Amino acid sequence: MRTETTVAGMTAAVAELKAQGRSIGLVPTMGYLHEGHLSLVRECRKSADVAVASIFVNPLQFGPQEDFRRYPRDPERDAALLEKEGVDILFLPTDQEMYPERFGTSVEVAGLQDKLCGRSRPGHFRGVATVVLKLFNIVRPDYAFFGQKDAQQVVILRRMVEDLNMDVEIRAMPIIREPDGLAMSSRNTYLNDDERRAALILFRSLEEARRMFEKGQRAASQIRERLLRIIASEHLARIDYAEVVDPGSLEPVEKIDGEALVALAVYIGRTRLIDNLILGPTRDTK
Ligand code: AMP
Repeated sequence: MRTETTVAGMTAAVAELKAQGRSIGLVPTMGYLHEGHLSLVRECRKSADVAVASIFVNPLQFGPQEDFRRYPRDPERDAALLEKEGVDILFLPTDQEMYPERFGTSVEVAGLQDKLCGRSRPGHFRGVATVVLKLFNIVRPDYAFFGQKDAQQVVILRRMVEDLNMDVEIRAMPIIREPDGLAMSSRNTYLNDDERRAALILFRSLEEARRMFEKGQRAASQIRERLLRIIASEHLARIDYAEVVDPGSLEPVEKIDGEALVALAVYIGRTRLIDNLILGPTRDTK
């Protein structure tokens, strides 16, 4: 595996690969890798001739009161994991490389960026869209791989790609979970033992939503109320939102008649966790 730490180095490597006619897959991450990230890498390797992974803790997507400084970082361990998975190029730029002094442009995906997580994290998706657009322009991937764990991110990036006529295919991959059901996240490392136990409430409440749906419940308000009640029963949990929305528009639905996205954000102590589930006739609801 080769590591590129500069934009110039990365674009030169890409130019060479393009000249050879090789397809490029990209897995953008913020590092501190776990099986969720590695599942994207594996899919990337299967789909593209060349697998590129990026690690960049993007300051633009963190609010002033958020965890940018304490976000977990371990680039050496990450590089070893990526190498083992057969990644060809690791792009590991510095903040200065990505945002030089006079940097001033950003991408807004109006409407979608203000819903769900956007309400409590203003500016977050502007930061995400901006950095992903930059990564796409630097790496010029044919395919880019994202986790369904960040469902809103996928919707927003798909919209950006379509709106800006970008020549990249976004592939969304399933949520990878711990054996007990907790969705894997770099932020899980913030949890102490009690919080780790309490964090299961996200998965448990989604499982209950799935059960209700399977038994025929189609009223979103009933499902939402049950979610809220289950989460409220966990004293270490504080709900940010629990919503049943259309998976394309992210608008709340009343009656579930096609697919619906059940999305949650919950604080466990000081740690904000997200999780979600897609309900619908075409899904394997396992
Ligand atoms: P992050 O490093 O948190 O920015 O995540 C990088 C990519 O990995 C994003 O596309 C995430 O959606 C994806 N990802 C994070 N956690 C998981 C998970 N548990 N399962 C699947 N994908 C994930």
